[in-house]
Amino acid sequence: MTSSVERAQLILAHDDHNPQDAVVPPIVQTSLFTFSSYEEMVATYRGDLERPVYSRGLNPTVRALEDKMAALELAEDAIAFASGMAAISAAVLSNVAPGDRIVVVRNVYPDAFRLFGTYLKRMQVAVTYVDGTDHDAVEAALPGARLFYLESPTSWVMEALDVGALAAMARRHGVFSVIDNSWATPIFQNPLELGVDLVVHSASKYIGGHSDVVAGIVVGSKEDIGRIRGEIYPYLGGRIAPMDAWLLLRGLRTLPQRVLAHQESALTLARRLCERQEVACVYHPGLASLPAGLRGTTGLFSIVLADDIDMRTFCNTLKLFKLGVSWGGHESLIVPGDVGLQQKSEPNSARAFGQSPQSVRLHVGLEGTEALWQDLSGALVAAHKP
Ligand SMILES: *Cc1c(COP(=O)(O)O)cnc(C)c1O
Repeated sequence: MTSSVERAQLILAHDDHNPQDAVVPPIVQTSLFTFSSYEEMVATYRGDLERPVYSRGLNPTVRALEDKMAALELAEDAIAFASGMAAISAAVLSNVAPGDRIVVVRNVYPDAFRLFGTYLKRMQVAVTYVDGTDHDAVEAALPGARLFYLESPTSWVMEALDVGALAAMARRHGVFSVIDNSWATPIFQNPLELGVDLVVHSASKYIGGHSDVVAGIVVGSKEDIGRIRGEIYPYLGGRIAPMDAWLLLRGLRTLPQRVLAHQESALTLARRLCERQEVACVYHPGLASLPAGLRGTTGLFSIVLADDIDMRTFCNTLKLFKLGVSWGGHESLIVPGDVGLQQKSEPNSARAFGQSPQSVRLHVGLEGTEALWQDLSGALVAAHKP
């Protein structure tokens, strides 16, 4: 594990080629790039010369981010987007056509689930959901499928999948595979090395790491990323802004240290929560042995409160854990499962994501393990119904 962290630290070290010896790369805040001559413009349009033309295509700050992410994921290429969902839709849409069927592991990120259930259905792409821990079920679902979409660990219930084994199955059946690696980050899991074809990240989480950017990235081979560059993003757009790419480059510098700190605090709290009578269940992949290929755990996990714990009092007593969606920043956050279950638009879909009325998702931030434990244990005591 140390070696993969150190490898990442070296990738993130200072670049000697920054202009004017700047230690920080510049934000190239421009929409277009001018040409010095007619000949240069013609050569660029012909493809004889690779240089920036327009920032929806190539922007040097964005390119610097893409190069770092490709290196961290041991990939040939990467393409950055204005959100994780833009990255997911580009990765999936560039690989399906009407009449295709895709296989998706259960408990994926809710908006990915909605993309498959609404948009893809409208495109006449069929979706089969499988339990990613049931390899026989996966094996049975893959033949004839066009794409296999994974997330590991999965959302909410945090099922840590054997990504290498699942990717090998997909290969055997000639099925293209895509994985959401936002939770593990490139520090703890490199799915391309495990045989997956494309990796997507919501960079809004640990890559940015400071809850100040919404962005996404797709990482893969030159050919697969080239297909997205050529076919999908020119029409769908959704590219990241240079300023946001710069913020992600800044966040990346501390990614190895941050995820190590999230790992340690979250694992300590998860183990202590297991001992508490107020807690019926803890979903944290680090409480069991990790599947091959997952080298560590981060700060996001879920618990189920015992029936005699009042959710409202628990949430309202917490001080350091704020009520809020998203995760991956400095701050600790909670999402009560019953809020999702009360969502007006789709009253039953939250159950498809593993949420139950007494469940709570926690993001353990960087405020300090003991302070966070005091906050949690105090709220558990206060929320005990008489
Ligand atoms: C947040 C999230 C996404 C979506 O990313 P956005 O940047 O919010 O569009 C995708 N997958 C996972 C696992 C996420 O947590």
